[in-house]
Amino acid sequence: MAKKYKIKIDNKMEAFGDVDFDKKIIRINRKAHIKAKKKALWDIPQKDSTLINTLLHEKMHIAHPKMKERNIRKITREKLIEMSKKIKNRLYGEMS
Ligand SMILES: [Zn+2]
Repeated sequence: MAKKYKIKIDNKMEAFGDVDFDKKIIRINRKAHIKAKKKALWDIPQKDSTLINTLLHEKMHIAHPKMKERNIRKITREKLIEMSKKIKNRLYGEMS
């Protein structure tokens, strides 16, 4: 599923992250996540503005291309609550 996608850091994009389905690229804005610790960005709750949330969120878009944004956000949050440290570390590793 999301395995074939490459992860690219783009600190200039106007979002925390997005998916290019044609090029199979997940873009992540690292800087925005740091900024969001001080002040919410783009009307996204700060609790959802973590790197790991964004990466998982974009992966959920890939796994469920037709799912609405609201539901993606909800299942991402739920998955993160149940997620082991090991899996979280693996996700972080994909971004380095
Ligand atoms: Zn989204």
